[in-house]
Amino acid sequence: MKDFKKTEYILESVCCGHQFEDKNWELDCPKQGDPALIFANYKKKQLDLNENPGLYKFSDWLPIEKVLKGSGAPVTYKSEGLAKHLGLSNLYITFNGYWPEKGAAMQTASFKECEAYSVCARTNSNGDRVMVVASAGNTARAFARVCSENNIPLLLCVPMDNIQAIWLEKPLNPCVKLVASEEGADYFDAIHLSNIACELDEFYPEGGAKNVARRDGMGTTVLSAVTTIGQIPDYYFQAVGSGTGAIAAWEANKRFLEDGRFGTNKMKLMVSQNAPFVPMYDAWKIKSRSLLPFTEEEARDQVLEVDAKVLTNRKPPYGIKGGLFDALTDTDGEVIKIDNEKGRIASSLFEKLEGNDLDPAAGIAVASLIESVKEGKVEKDSVIMLNITGGGAKRFKAEKEVRYEKPSIIFPVNPDPADVKKKIKELFKFE
Ligand SMILES: [Zn+2]
Repeated sequence: MKDFKKTEYILESVCCGHQFEDKNWELDCPKQGDPALIFANYKKKQLDLNENPGLYKFSDWLPIEKVLKGSGAPVTYKSEGLAKHLGLSNLYITFNGYWPEKGAAMQTASFKECEAYSVCARTNSNGDRVMVVASAGNTARAFARVCSENNIPLLLCVPMDNIQAIWLEKPLNPCVKLVASEEGADYFDAIHLSNIACELDEFYPEGGAKNVARRDGMGTTVLSAVTTIGQIPDYYFQAVGSGTGAIAAWEANKRFLEDGRFGTNKMKLMVSQNAPFVPMYDAWKIKSRSLLPFTEEEARDQVLEVDAKVLTNRKPPYGIKGGLFDALTDTDGEVIKIDNEKGRIASSLFEKLEGNDLDPAAGIAVASLIESVKEGKVEKDSVIMLNITGGGAKRFKAEKEVRYEKPSIIFPVNPDPADVKKKIKELFKFE
């Protein structure tokens, strides 16, 4: 794998179209206009799958300079069980997770592995500095695995309430450290913690939705679907917390339009949120580019209630230029709200009809498809991509022994920044 040739691309901003090189982990347009995403403009306009292992077979459209070991890729197959149940003739499931019979080999059972393997292989001149990732759970698990197995220094910030999401088959490599915000804290508090760490010179932010490698890693779900189906689907179903996966899907769709071999469709984005925490549903309902105001208290209470904790980002890249609002506008998309009960029923139905267990967020996506069929929002013969963002965890845990990781430090909800910095530096033995 040593002979991997860096993918050729240039970065471009959505705010002003400025093109610039990916010199040092760029997350924003250097001209800094309005808040906007940047994206990778790949030299190769037509995607060719190659011989690289796992996710890296999509390297034409990943902003990377190397190939890491251990990755799995999304797998797309035509549904029979669920399709028949819903009366759909062209339902395709893109499965991210653990399902050996289908060739799905993501050992953390989540599509966050697509992000992590892409981000950790991105062009990077940060040397020995420590990458910082804040996560509600699944992202942390994926980054923990990738960095641990590939010796990449990493600080993970996770809310204590989601700590049970950090399970792995192998023990953590000491180059990966886990810290948490105390019980009652949410994803936003973990982000706050990560921001404090990133004020230190020895640390740099992974970047979340702003990281082109993260989005294009997630976009491989669409690369898998389109190259398997042979055309761009009509509809795209996914549950969203930050909406980054849906933005990535839209971006991948636009690349395929330029590719020219897969039709002229723009997939209608059908994204779902887990009620009662549905800020993007509320905003999109009245076509507002900004989220409607809600208090911190309201948010925390609602987050406690939802099954799919990974869908509870309070500050998603929704209104930012090139973000979810633009993606929904461009594709005439919809945001659907689904409660816990419907999500659970949908998960059991999927397990019965398709044969694998789902994580709660994927259950929300399946429920949103069921609702949309019921309400006649999709034609029975339309080509539908259902992005199953996580599955097979139950099975993986039944077949393998997994270890639940504990944080090295637990910080209060409103920590003293100086204290956080001191302790985190000590953790990595920086003077
Ligand atoms: Zn710009």
